[in-house]
Amino acid sequence: MTFDDPQESRFRPDDGCPLFSEALEEHLVSVSRGEAPNRGRFCGNCYTPVGRDSLRCPHCGEEFATGRKTVDSVPVEVMDALREQRKVEARWVNGLAYIGLLTAVVGGIVFVLTVPFLKDRLLYATIVYALILIVGGRVLAGFLGGYFGDRIGYERARARTRAMWDAHVAAREGAGRRA
Ligand SMILES: [Zn+2]
Repeated sequence: MTFDDPQESRFRPDDGCPLFSEALEEHLVSVSRGEAPNRGRFCGNCYTPVGRDSLRCPHCGEEFATGRKTVDSVPVEVMDALREQRKVEARWVNGLAYIGLLTAVVGGIVFVLTVPFLKDRLLYATIVYALILIVGGRVLAGFLGGYFGDRIGYERARARTRAMWDAHVAAREGAGRRA
């Protein structure tokens, strides 16, 4: 039911928000699992983990000498934003997959009860209903969840991440000016 097309999930929107690079996402996932500390060297702009001697961010192109300096941890709100993004995405994928399954359950009953041949033949009706549930449920759940849920969820989640990013950058710039 999962559509693990790497190209699809690695789609990088060109909307001015550099969150989240693949490396940052990996880092934050291992931090949230307790497998890694939230310590290291990160791009001062997009928080992508960078090597000890890197002068430039491989993800957003920030020059550390002239631009924003590297930081040694990822801000909590960026971490929260990824958690929130994944939650929203999962909610849409699972929600629509569930609707797909429900459609097969209800649609199967309606089908079996309305086809005259099946109406009086319990055994055939049961077999047909089972097939509709197994095959139809899977296909509908995959199609609605994996296709539409994935896309809608991504758009919704991305809009939130973008809003968070804009607020984050505004606060960051403001703090920078005051300093
Ligand atoms: Zn960067």
